[in-house]
Amino acid sequence: VGDSKSFDREVESVCPFCGVGCQLSFKIKDEKIAWVDGVEGPANENRLCVKGRFGFDYIHHPHRLTKPLIRREDAPAKGLNVDPANLMTHFREASWDEALDAAAKGLKGRGTEIAGFGSAKCSNEEAYLFQKLIRQGFGHNNVDHCTRLCHASSVAALLENVGSGAVTATFNEIENADVAIVIGANPTENHPVAATYFKQFAKRGGKLIIMDPRGTGMKRHASHMLQFRPGTDVAMLNAIMNVIVEEKLYDEQYIAAFTENWAAMKDHLADFTPEKMEPLCGVKADVLRDVARTFAGARAAMIFWGMGVSQHIHGTDNSRCLISLALMTGQVGRPGAGLHPLRGQNNVQGASDAGLIPMFLPDYQSVEDDGVRSAFTEVWGSGDFSNKRGLTVVEIMDAIHADQIKGMYILGENPAMSDPDAEHARDALAKLDCLVVQDIFLTETANFADVVLPSSAWPEKTGTVTNTNRQVQMGRPAVPPPGDAKEDWWITTELAKRLGLNWSYTHPKQVFAEMALNMPSMNNITWERLEKTAVTYPSLTPDDPGQPIVFSDGFPRPDGRARFTPASVIAPAEVPDQEYPMILTTGRQLEHWHTGSMTRRASVLDWAEPEANASLHPQTLRKLGVRPGDMIALETRRGRIEIMARADRAVATDMVFLPFAYVEAAANILTNPKLDPYGKIPEFKFSACRVSALSSD
Ligand code: SF4
Repeated sequence: VGDSKSFDREVESVCPFCGVGCQLSFKIKDEKIAWVDGVEGPANENRLCVKGRFGFDYIHHPHRLTKPLIRREDAPAKGLNVDPANLMTHFREASWDEALDAAAKGLKGRGTEIAGFGSAKCSNEEAYLFQKLIRQGFGHNNVDHCTRLCHASSVAALLENVGSGAVTATFNEIENADVAIVIGANPTENHPVAATYFKQFAKRGGKLIIMDPRGTGMKRHASHMLQFRPGTDVAMLNAIMNVIVEEKLYDEQYIAAFTENWAAMKDHLADFTPEKMEPLCGVKADVLRDVARTFAGARAAMIFWGMGVSQHIHGTDNSRCLISLALMTGQVGRPGAGLHPLRGQNNVQGASDAGLIPMFLPDYQSVEDDGVRSAFTEVWGSGDFSNKRGLTVVEIMDAIHADQIKGMYILGENPAMSDPDAEHARDALAKLDCLVVQDIFLTETANFADVVLPSSAWPEKTGTVTNTNRQVQMGRPAVPPPGDAKEDWWITTELAKRLGLNWSYTHPKQVFAEMALNMPSMNNITWERLEKTAVTYPSLTPDDPGQPIVFSDGFPRPDGRARFTPASVIAPAEVPDQEYPMILTTGRQLEHWHTGSMTRRASVLDWAEPEANASLHPQTLRKLGVRPGDMIALETRRGRIEIMARADRAVATDMVFLPFAYVEAAANILTNPKLDPYGKIPEFKFSACRVSALSSD
């Protein structure tokens, strides 16, 4: 670290962590990232959080993969047993040709026996190529990525009811709002730079309504804090909408002009009075009434939500309620108004837009539509592929156990840590007869691989990404990849050639140009434009910087109308009982990113938050006879972990909060794989568990 003159060069790019998509400048000294500063990006205006500023030395970590690896014939049985120190007991180094040939040999010609997980950490072009490889190379749609573990239910509800899976307004629009709801999200930890805009909004008098079973950092800035019982979102939101209907606070003109199914919605809500819902959701009836009046009385209001909403078996219903609340009050399509699911990974919006999902081709065009498929096969110069929706993340693991899937290509995903019921997922990975993993570290998933392909970290590659705001931004390489590691687009292209596909890309800009042919969202957006500036899609002309607010004059649905879809109360899949009396919920921490493969190798972040921990209310700890720092055992019907207890008054007395970044106490050994029927997202936010003290001797 030194003053700016002591750096060799500076490269402007985008942060690789969360969906806020902060623009930054890498300062390079001796081919290492020595420092990072925020720059004037549309989402961050120079700001960065601790991950964006200090979380980069993982790319120089000695664990980086620098050579392709092939599993040795005399390797021990597959398991979570590869230590970087004994890597060569399990694998041997190989040339790129040998490794790619081995990968292709294991996968080629096996049709529906193969599935692929791509990554929301890669560029739009890499996501596009990955889904194309599975569809063109194997003839089906068994391709998915971590959206299935994060906002798939929100996207399902948005597509169903407003006709588009992306946000209707950027989060920065909060500066034009006077009321905002933040529900099931913890932006101070998970979208920290977005949180700064939310706090400024509250500081200048905006009414910030926080709804969360866990008291979050935003609580201090809130006009209303609704700490509702976990899993009762629908009851609480229906009660708020019931008040809006009963007191005729809805926007009749907007409803008549822009929506359908209002009569059914009104009828449905009649039974959800605040008095009836109070015992269920734990929020006082008068508070529900006050929130309803505050939101409905707003000049302009926004709704933000996170995975506390989406990661339930009723995640789609939760999002349907939020959409209905915005529609009945006319809070869409105006400055300061809108629906905004805060997207998690840096490029989960872009990867989903690029078709890295089993039911849609790029731009959410259905695989079941013959015309859509033929538009793609025409561009791809190949024959048709299946018109059936493919399997999703958790379904693919089940299909391995059922002997239907026998080989996988996994790029940058870590299901051995990120899938619910992780032991079930690990057993599935061990069962595969060909697993090709492409990553920057030997992740827990790569422990099970037959072929490991070393790839580039984000600051080593060229490509575009799309943030939670629909802003498409250019990522530029700051340093070269280590050793023989390569950019992901190159690796996927070389594998495709060996699978017999006619690919000849030599630069990601060729991929971008091909994507744009069948993606109306990319109209007027070119690689050359993105090299100069970020563009928010949709962009209406070649000079339009893009539209921060959409749906001002109707929705991309039949007759231009959004839809009210009523939602009923459904209990969580696993309700606490005598055997498992507590509620387990999981999430992220400020310092650590997802399964920890990057941030636990970033020295400052690992220093700040080095150990696995579970948060419980101090009263709960006292009842258990446990002090903060003591070890406890957590058990669910799926498994048991031992972990250090942390006292946290923000957690309700019947709850445990567990971050999922720590392999030594992996949260997902415990979580419930039951799925939301629409989004196919597992219920990470609610499992029945029991807690016990571990004796210190
Ligand atoms: Fe990176 Fe998100 Fe932090 Fe911005 S808020 S610096 S995108 S982790």
